[in-house]
Amino acid sequence: MNAPDPEFPLRSIDALAFDNSFARLPARFHTRLAPWGLPEPRLVATSAAAAALIGLDPSALTAPEALQWLAGNRLPDGAESLAAVYSGHQFGVWAGRLGDGRAHLAGEVRGAGGPWELQWKGAGRTPYSRMGDGRAVLRSSIREFLCSEAMAGLGIPSTRALAIVGSDLPVQREETETAAVVMRMSPSFVRFGSFEHWAAAGDVEALQILADYVIDRHFPALREAPQPVEALLQTVSRLTGELLAQWQAVGFMHGVMNTDNMSILGLTIDYGPFGFMDGFDGGHVCNHSDSAGRYRFSHQPQVAHWNLLALAGALLPLLDGDRERARAAVDEAYGPAYDECFARLMGAKLGLAAPADEALLTGLYLLLQRNRCDYTSFFRRLSVLPAQVEAGVAGDAPVLDLCIDREAGAAWLREWRTRLAGEARPERERQASMTRSNPKYVLRNWVAESAIRAARQGEFAELHDVLHCLARPFDEQPEFERFATPPPDWADGIEVSCSS
Ligand code: AMP
Ligand code: MG
Repeated sequence: MNAPDPEFPLRSIDALAFDNSFARLPARFHTRLAPWGLPEPRLVATSAAAAALIGLDPSALTAPEALQWLAGNRLPDGAESLAAVYSGHQFGVWAGRLGDGRAHLAGEVRGAGGPWELQWKGAGRTPYSRMGDGRAVLRSSIREFLCSEAMAGLGIPSTRALAIVGSDLPVQREETETAAVVMRMSPSFVRFGSFEHWAAAGDVEALQILADYVIDRHFPALREAPQPVEALLQTVSRLTGELLAQWQAVGFMHGVMNTDNMSILGLTIDYGPFGFMDGFDGGHVCNHSDSAGRYRFSHQPQVAHWNLLALAGALLPLLDGDRERARAAVDEAYGPAYDECFARLMGAKLGLAAPADEALLTGLYLLLQRNRCDYTSFFRRLSVLPAQVEAGVAGDAPVLDLCIDREAGAAWLREWRTRLAGEARPERERQASMTRSNPKYVLRNWVAESAIRAARQGEFAELHDVLHCLARPFDEQPEFERFATPPPDWADGIEVSCSS
């Protein structure tokens, strides 16, 4: 395969050269089958940024033959469509075999930064669909499409979304909705649960094949390690720690952190009932189906650790059954990576060159929690406050207006300013750095919902606006000011659940 020259993007999807390394794994790893496609598909949105990753001119996605391809009605040359098998723990309980119940892997395409696997999500039943219909509704597909691209805009590791295609095909959920297909992209769709599957089956040979496949394709440097599988576990633990620190810093809640929804590359994957924090509440549960609150915001870092231990348990047969060593591989990598990354990110959000200290952060979270301050607005407004103020100056109003207890807000600001004074960074530099660390725009649930409501009426302009806005979340974009506001009253009743 030739890498497309990024200077001369491919003008047609037929110019994409497909390979499928996952298809070359032994037959028990997957089932080969074509996607079922969508009747009378219509293009809902495309991501130019995702297209660029595979050297594709975005205009190529609007051609009629591209629409049939994106909908799963036409297989690209060289594609060997398949659904992969995996298992997993759901809500802390072993769920047995799951697998790609509504995803079909088309194969991989080489981009300037390496190969990207392309996958249809929502293109019909597979042998792993269990009771499901293999479909995804327009509502959940828009959420996945927008959030994949929003996370990329924020610089947070994520699978990507190339396009979304809708149709009138009815799909039954709580009410009747319509079907859509998202073309997802990822360097790999292997999950923690992909390993758990072979461990549960007692198939050590398959476990070794999968570990070798992931190491050779994604972490070739680990081949040199004394114990490559142990090094893999350490690497996945570190990447997961860094990912969780980024989620916590930006206020992202995944909603369904089951082990089958944990990427072996430390990417955010499988967008369902996710949410971004509006009014801050550490105990917030964004998934309406999560009655016990297992995946509440403040618990996410512990859940990721629990999931890593499940992965470690699955890899035990490749680690001489040495439980202590497997646990140490997770613990020595995950905690330090999370702590270091989180302190650095929070320091940056607060305008500090040094990592944020415990006392300042404890006071901050108390303030945010007691006042239910809008999380994104709080940091964005903080970014432009001056480092020095005369007592009682009205300049702090943008932040204090977010606090019911203004006195508590003012007290915390005094603490914050003593830290700034300790560093004496030039004001312009500090403010510019804070503006680059505190997004103005995140995919608030109400923003996604307003794009969904319009799209269900066949109006895609709002969705395109949200996509464009979230591609540059740190920039002031006056035309999109409305997307930076806390939820309006009509959004009070929005509930997101596992229904997708
Ligand atoms: P999720 O929690 O959405 O990541 O899905 C968990 C498992 O259920 C995975 O194996 C999915 O492929 C499968 N699944 C979810 N929704 C459907 C559906 N509508 N049809 C078939 N399988 C599904
Ligand atoms: Mg999933």
